[in-house]
Amino acid sequence: MAYLNRTTKQWQDMDTAHHLHPFTNYKALAKEGSNIIVKADGVYLTNSDNKQFLDAMSGLWCVNVGYGRKNLAEVAYKQMQELPYYNSFFKTATTPSIELAQQLAEIAPNDLNHAFFSSSGSEANDTVVRMVRRYWDLKEQPKKKTFISREYAYHGSTMAGVSLGGMTGMHEQGGLMPGFEHVMPPYWYKYGAEMTPAEFGIFTANKIEEKINEIGAENIAAFIGEPIQGAGGVIIPPETYWPRVQEICKEYDILLVVDEVICGFGRTGNWFGSDTYNIKPDIITMAKGISSGYIPLSGIMVGKRVTDILIEKGGDFNHGYTYSGHPVACAVAIENLKIIREENLIENSSKTSVYLEKRMKEIAEHSLVGEVRMKSFIGAVELVKNKEKKEMFAETGVVGGICRDYCTENGLVMRAVRDGMIFCPPLIFNNNHIDELVEKLKKSLDQTQDHISKS
Ligand SMILES: *Cc1c(COP(=O)(O)O)cnc(C)c1O
Repeated sequence: MAYLNRTTKQWQDMDTAHHLHPFTNYKALAKEGSNIIVKADGVYLTNSDNKQFLDAMSGLWCVNVGYGRKNLAEVAYKQMQELPYYNSFFKTATTPSIELAQQLAEIAPNDLNHAFFSSSGSEANDTVVRMVRRYWDLKEQPKKKTFISREYAYHGSTMAGVSLGGMTGMHEQGGLMPGFEHVMPPYWYKYGAEMTPAEFGIFTANKIEEKINEIGAENIAAFIGEPIQGAGGVIIPPETYWPRVQEICKEYDILLVVDEVICGFGRTGNWFGSDTYNIKPDIITMAKGISSGYIPLSGIMVGKRVTDILIEKGGDFNHGYTYSGHPVACAVAIENLKIIREENLIENSSKTSVYLEKRMKEIAEHSLVGEVRMKSFIGAVELVKNKEKKEMFAETGVVGGICRDYCTENGLVMRAVRDGMIFCPPLIFNNNHIDELVEKLKKSLDQTQDHISKS
């Protein structure tokens, strides 16, 4: 393709001239230029200068089956020829959307039997807000509108997504609507020093109860949470947390929504994070790993408690997207599920994670590292100023950024959240990939150490 024959410099200049990136400092990017990724295979990316990177982030937490899957391309090609598009509005449907809904109902936790599709995690969470509020209206408790979520939660970037989320930097930029409340997350390393993890799990779950009492249970629609908070820095809750959350939701009659956008589809060693933590949600949100990022697709799975009312008493549900249940996206997702099943990716990655954990213990010894926390194929390396005193850096995010840049230079893609180095590798990572990850990360940590001791 002729347009591929530009130099890196030309791409970067065009990019700066015409392209506004998501979550980016435009001035800084214009100075440095983008790292332009041109192809990928397995767990490796290649950029426009033919440099290779080990992708320890699965793209943006989504390429669970790895890159270069011809089957996924082939089903998309076939489906596009047969039926590239039709909608599911007004009493029509397409076969891939029905098939996928049925398959998801089989693997989803609890009694979640119905799917509502959309194209991104953010949209799916918008659907959650619309549907949950509709549910309480139909139950003749219309005051129950407020959602409780956590600080550092990430639920997307649309207006409802950002409001559900707990990122103050996003709220400050025109993002927070009324009717959304945030409580302390179960982030033990940062907030829990005086307690055991088990005590801290109960303590933070009880923050939800305090918030309910403050606002009044008659005004609360739902609690929403990621099983493990991903973009917030891979915050892994103590084992005591979710059982207590579940209890509180039941006691105060509020719906429990679990955002499985990252944790779903094998990330934590089971199909869903809800399985890993034994959560019984009323609704879950799915995206990312549902199609391994090969094509945009998301959805929610809804349990009997909500669907019974919605179907019996609901009349028209005035909500939906042009691309809800897009046949090409659903066909790709079905094939993606098939790969996960046939290659035993969930069980295998869960086994491989034992080696990952073992090697990460070496990383935990590094003088820059406060703790390494992980669950199967997701984790974080918390960089700190003083390891013994568990003292974090005064200016958050600087050292994380430095380390992230060294990783990139060394051919390793990791992400920095504040001063945590995040890993979330494709489920096909093997022991050799893990060795490469650990060696490159060690080198980057040493370079970071050097860098900050000189400045
Ligand atoms: C990425 C993410 C979203 C938003 O998904 P988009 O497809 O970017 O809109 C929502 N929730 C969680 C937990 C996520 O990680």
